[in-house]
Amino acid sequence: MSNPDVLIVGAGLAGICCARALQKEGVSFQVIEASDSVGGRVRTEKVDGFLLDRGFQVLLTAYPEALEQLDYDRLQLCAFAPGALIRADGRFFRIPDPWREPGAFMTSLFSPIGGFADKFKLSRIRSAVLRKTIEEIFEGEDISTMQALRRRQISQPMIDRFFKPFIGGVMLDPKLTVSNRLFEFVFKMFAEGDAAVPAEGMQAIPRQLAEVLPEGSIRFNERVHSIGLNQVKLSTGEVLAAKQVVVATEGPEASRLLGFDRTISSRSVCTLYFAAKESPVEEPMLVLSGSSRGPINNLAVMNVVAPGYAPAGEQLVSITVLGWPSRDDQTVVSMVRGQLRHWYGLVADEWRLLRMYRIEHGLPVVSPMEWQQSSRLAAGLYVCGDHRSTPSIQGAMESGRLTGEAVIRELKGQPDPVTRVRKDEPRLVELRESNQG
Ligand SMILES: Cc1cc2nc3c(=O)[nH]c(=O)nc-3n(C[C@H](O)[C@H](O)[C@H](O)COP(=O)(O)OP(=O)(O)OC[C@H]3O[C@@H](n4cnc5c(N)ncnc54)[C@H](O)[C@@H]3O)c2cc1C
Repeated sequence: MSNPDVLIVGAGLAGICCARALQKEGVSFQVIEASDSVGGRVRTEKVDGFLLDRGFQVLLTAYPEALEQLDYDRLQLCAFAPGALIRADGRFFRIPDPWREPGAFMTSLFSPIGGFADKFKLSRIRSAVLRKTIEEIFEGEDISTMQALRRRQISQPMIDRFFKPFIGGVMLDPKLTVSNRLFEFVFKMFAEGDAAVPAEGMQAIPRQLAEVLPEGSIRFNERVHSIGLNQVKLSTGEVLAAKQVVVATEGPEASRLLGFDRTISSRSVCTLYFAAKESPVEEPMLVLSGSSRGPINNLAVMNVVAPGYAPAGEQLVSITVLGWPSRDDQTVVSMVRGQLRHWYGLVADEWRLLRMYRIEHGLPVVSPMEWQQSSRLAAGLYVCGDHRSTPSIQGAMESGRLTGEAVIRELKGQPDPVTRVRKDEPRLVELRESNQG
């Protein structure tokens, strides 16, 4: 095969969406992927007939990029019920979404999760984010989510019982240090659409996106060792050449390949899956831990949301623990079991552990300044992924597509300006100079 125009490193959502943009314009490309399948962080494993997403996650159906690129009907999306079951003071409180469940207004208003004033302020936040466009949200003041909640005088119990497990769980950031712009964006997405999973597991999303790519355009089980002038070197020593190279790996690996002086750091997370005979919940609602005692952040019974996640007669319980526990797996499992026993009684001891996934690079720690940078690093050299956008499915897909479009502009002789490179990023300076020379 002759050299493709573009080499893309990584077949996660960003790499695939970049390839789709090139494919649309008839630009030739080759994707190099270190693992054996598409999806990157959006993968689903089949274990004993259960569908285990590698880390509990959901698609927010209002994501504009997903609406544009995905066929929701074919994904057979199954939605969570809006609202949550919150565990606090030794019992569960059902907090329906009063804006979406008719008749739920009074239940929500009188629930002990936050006072009347908190609920009034929450409704004001909701109206404000619904009024704003996404662009307006991203132009907002750049303060942390915690600062913004404090400024709005949301009470500490409301922060601890609702915002920390809910928003902290979505951002993998229980301290809510993440940008308020990201919080408002995610809150808007929850208000405008559903949180859903495809009937066949989250990996159905990247699989559908990759369907249109020509056969053989993704080389699996090939790790890129280093990036050079219009070429990449594989760990086997093989060198591949192209006019342009796009690095679409997760943040830390992009930092290594491109020699960024600051390694993009990550938020970690653990997901534990248990098989149970009876479901601990009756409806497809997320369960949040409204107390900081115990390792569990949230729980979901996946087959109550999407029946195909478990074989007939079985229940699939997903448990999320935020961070990277310092204890060994066995200790983490017994701590989780201890908390489950407290919540559901001795029956939880009978649940069978199917898998525990420790995910080191769950989400990148990035600031809004980094989202807005151009993906063009040097002539013929690009970077994309969720670390160059909002850390999410939306961000990864959008960043990939926009990068593909920027590559096409350069091939047509109308390149974007390059991102400013600091002198202390010597590898990047060297690559840029060699590409210009
Ligand atoms: C547990 C968890 C929960 C999440 N929850 C949500 C959620 O509910 N909603 C949401 O919107 N987002 C969520 N996310 C975030 C979302 O999954 C990611 O933002 C998105 O998938 C990132 O896609 P990406 O293409 O940028 O990177 P990745 O998916 O990381 O893709 C990078 C690819 O590059 C490959 N690669 C790496 N190094 C090399 C190399 N040297 N050579 C070749 N290939 C290489 C990797 O194998 C991988 O396939 C969650 C993530 C996790 C982990």
